This record gives sequence, structure tokens and C-alpha cells, in this order.
Amino acid sequence: MHIHIFWDSLSPPGLQIPVTRMISSILGMQATVSENHVRMMGYVDGRKQIDAQVLLDSIQAYKHRHAIQDPLLLVVHQDLFKNGNSFVFGLARQSVGAAVVSTARLSNEYYGRGGNDDDLIDRITKEGAHEVGHLLGLDHCHNRECIMFKPDTLDELDRKKKALCIMCSEHLAGNLSSD
Ligand SMILES: [Zn+2]
Ligand SMILES: [Zn+2]
Repeated sequence: MHIHIFWDSLSPPGLQIPVTRMISSILGMQATVSENHVRMMGYVDGRKQIDAQVLLDSIQAYKHRHAIQDPLLLVVHQDLFKNGNSFVFGLARQSVGAAVVSTARLSNEYYGRGGNDDDLIDRITKEGAHEVGHLLGLDHCHNRECIMFKPDTLDELDRKKKALCIMCSEHLAGNLSSD
């Protein structure tokens, strides 16, 4: 198995290599990154946000067309929402191995603080590994330091470590060996 990461051209440039390396190391799996080939869909003018479910439909269609079985994560710069949530950092659709992460709310600048590439790399890595974790069969975890903990705020995201807890690691190893 192999993780495909697509990096939309307006996502922060220059970060895709370190992010891909770290996601690969957190999940113990090969990962490659390339420019995005998925059609961008779901933009809602009135909200200036993308409906994450519609974008997942587009990723799903792309995977189907190209017969890609492996997990595919798309990183976009636009803000995402889903029905019932004013925003989401990311969203995964496990049944089809498709996930999306937005960098919009991950930069210090969004919160009026000074920009820092290392912070941004850390956050995209954590969010990306979390969503791909769902694609690999992992659910949310109560351990606040674990990648699979669901953060509601940037502080909660920053408090997580760039690692799975022991329980989630064992769960993942079990999922992968039963394939
Ligand atoms: Zn989640
Ligand atoms: Zn965990």
C-alpha cells in the first residue's frame, strides 16, 4: 500500500516534501506527493468555502477513473465546511479511500500571529496523517496527544504529537496485516 498526496497549486509551496515525509513516517507507509489532478468542485460563493463532501465526490470519481485503490489525500488552500459544521480542518471518506485537508486555518497568519513555516508543516502533517489514518481504518482516539484525537481548535491540534498512541499503532498494524 502507498499513500498518494495531491498538492493544490495554491497551497503553501515548498512544504509538500517535509509534510509527505512526516506523514509517511507517522503511519509507517510509503507516501508520494504530486501536483493536484482532481477537479476542484464544491466552492460556494456566498460562504467563500468549499463543501468538503462535494470535493470528496470529485476525488472519488478521479480514483475510480484511474483505478487507484490506495489512499488519496488532497491538500487545498480553500477553507472547507460540511453540512452541520461551519468549518472542518479536513474530512475523510473511508469507504472509498479519499480525504481532503485545508491549509486555510492552519497558518499563524489566519489568527493574526506571525507566520512560521515549521508550525504550518507540523499542522498540515498532523491533519493529513489524521485523515489518512481514517482511510486506514482508524477511528477517533481519546488520547489528546494522539494523531487520531479530533481537535476542535488550533491549540488542540498543536498539543497533539506527530505520532499515533500505542493503541492506535497496534490497531493500525492489525488492520494492515489483515489485508
Ligand atoms: Zn477525524
Ligand atoms: Zn490513539
